[in-house]
Amino acid sequence: MGTGYQRILLKLSGEALMGDLGYGIDPQVVQEIASEVAEVVSTGVQVAIVVGGGNIFRGVKGAARGMDRATADYIGMIATVMNAMTLQDALEQINVPTRVQSAIAMQEVAEPYIRRRAIRHLEKGRVVIFGAGSGNPFFTTDTTAALRAAEINADVIFKATKVDGIYDSDPHVNPQARRYHSLNYTHVLTQDLRVMDSTAIALCKENNIPIIVFDLGVRGNIRRAVTGEQIGTIVGG
Ligand code: UDP
Repeated sequence: MGTGYQRILLKLSGEALMGDLGYGIDPQVVQEIASEVAEVVSTGVQVAIVVGGGNIFRGVKGAARGMDRATADYIGMIATVMNAMTLQDALEQINVPTRVQSAIAMQEVAEPYIRRRAIRHLEKGRVVIFGAGSGNPFFTTDTTAALRAAEINADVIFKATKVDGIYDSDPHVNPQARRYHSLNYTHVLTQDLRVMDSTAIALCKENNIPIIVFDLGVRGNIRRAVTGEQIGTIVGG
């Protein structure tokens, strides 16, 4: 294994689980993600996952329709727990021991978030899925990914998305758009490149956590990123 990534934090957006459905969860897509995760776990890499909830509910959207923002955000956080449990199920079906830790107490379905316990699970080869975001409204699961990555000392954040990296302009609009191989945090922040929200980027910058942005739709990409193959865009110092 080339790079020496021992512990990764994989950020999966809610949309990543949605496939082409437009809403909710596509079980086929979840199975594919689970099998890719299983593949890297079997090589001894420790995998923690932060999953989003945008395939089910987004706080800002609820607020735009007149809901109280904080309440809407709590609903969004609860949505992420549904995604976390779905992923856990898919992973355990293929014999990957997995724990869900929720930042909002839900003791019947998930462990509470306990940092040291999460680390212990990882050391034992279990996948840990962090649900309910940071537990705080007005935050995102991208920021949660940066926070948890710092807390568990992850070597890297894998931001698996629907595009194959970061471009200098929108490739759907501009056919001349160019993809960056690497970028520094400050560039991402000042150019407002919207890889992750600025709070998440700032946290990564402060803690020196590299972010690799790549397309989850290409099979084998998680393994490729772990082995240090150059895919997507890497954001670092
Ligand atoms: N959320 C929150 N605090 C957090 C993380 C998430 O309030 O720490 C809420 C917020 O409403 C957000 C929703 O949960 O819109 C779903 O998360 P996110 O939008 O980050 O999911 P993704 O875009 O990754 O699917």
